[in-house]
Amino acid sequence: METGVVVKSVGIRYKVLTGSGSIIDCILKGNLRVRGLRTTNPVAVGDKVKLMPDKDKTSGVITEILDRRNYILRKASNLSKQSQIIAANIDQAFLMATITMPETPVEFIDRFLITAEAYNITSKIIFNKTDLYNPSQREMMEDMISLYSKIGYECIRFSVKDGGNTEMLREKMKDRITLIAGNSGVGKSSLINLLHPGLNIKTEEISSYHKQGKHVTTFPEMYIMPFGGFVIDTPGLRGFGVVDMDRNEIYHFFPEIFRISEGCRFYNCLHSDEPDCAVRDAVEKEIIALSRYRSYLSILNDNNLKYR
Ligand code: GDP
Ligand code: ZN
Repeated sequence: METGVVVKSVGIRYKVLTGSGSIIDCILKGNLRVRGLRTTNPVAVGDKVKLMPDKDKTSGVITEILDRRNYILRKASNLSKQSQIIAANIDQAFLMATITMPETPVEFIDRFLITAEAYNITSKIIFNKTDLYNPSQREMMEDMISLYSKIGYECIRFSVKDGGNTEMLREKMKDRITLIAGNSGVGKSSLINLLHPGLNIKTEEISSYHKQGKHVTTFPEMYIMPFGGFVIDTPGLRGFGVVDMDRNEIYHFFPEIFRISEGCRFYNCLHSDEPDCAVRDAVEKEIIALSRYRSYLSILNDNNLKYR
C-alpha cells in the first residue's frame, strides 16, 4: 500500500503522484464510488489517497480517500442540484489582481476573499503587472495594499515581466497546494510558467480577454512545481465554485465587519438599515472602508448569487 496525491482527474481515471515520486494511472476501488459526499465525482485533484499499485507499478487502484482539510465545489450544471468537487486540501489561495490591463474590480476581490473565507482557505493578494503602473495607479495599489493588509490579507507587489520577488513566492508555495485565481488576463498562466519554466502553458494576448466563452469550465489542472508543492489554476470566481452561505452570515466572512458587528444592537443585524448598527457607524467613521461595505451590501442584495 502506498499513499499519494491526485494530480489529475480525467473521467474515471486519475493520475496519482506517489510518495516515492512516480505518477501512476489509477482507477477507484468500486465501493469508493458511492460513499461519502453527494457529489458527482468522489475524488478530485489535491485528494490524498491510499492506493495499491500493480506489480510493475505503472497503474493502480485507489482504495481510500484520506480526510480532507477543505474542498471546493461547483454545481455539476446550471440546473443540477448536485455538486462537483473540483479540488481538495488547498493550503492557500493567491488572488492575482491588477490595477490596469485589466482593472480588477474591488468587488471581485471582495467576493473572492469571502468565498475563500467560507471555504476556510487563507488568501494572499498578488498585485501583478506593477511594471505597467503609472504613479497614480501605483498609489491606488498602495491604498489597496494598506486596506487589505490591515484586514489581515498579505499583499505582494509583483511583476511577472520583471520577475523580482519570484524566489519569495516560491518559498511561500513550497510543499503546499496553492490555488491561483483571478480574472482572465491578470497573468495567472504567465506566473505559473515563470515558477515552472518548461511547463509552457498557453498565455493570452492582452487584446483577447473579454472574448466570451473562452474559459469553458473544465476541471482545473494541478501542476507539480519543481521546487516542491502544487499549483491549481482556476479562472475567476466561476471556477471557484458554490458556497453554502446564508444571507445573514455573509458578513461573517468580512473579518473586519464581523469583528465590529459585536457592537450592533440586534444579534441578527444585517448592517443595512437597522438602528444602532455598529458596522454602519464604523463605516461613517472610516474605520471600515466604504468599498468593503459597498461590496458587502452588493453581495447581500444580489439575488443572482449562488449562495443559499
Ligand atoms: P491569465 O488569463 O490570467 O492566465 O493571464 P496570462 O498569463 O495569459 O497573461 C495575459 C497577458 O498579460 C499576456 O500577454 C502576458 O504576457 C501579460 N502579462 C502577464 N504578466 C505581466 C506583467 O507582469 N507585466 C506585463 N507588462 N504583462 C504581463
Ligand atoms: Zn449592524
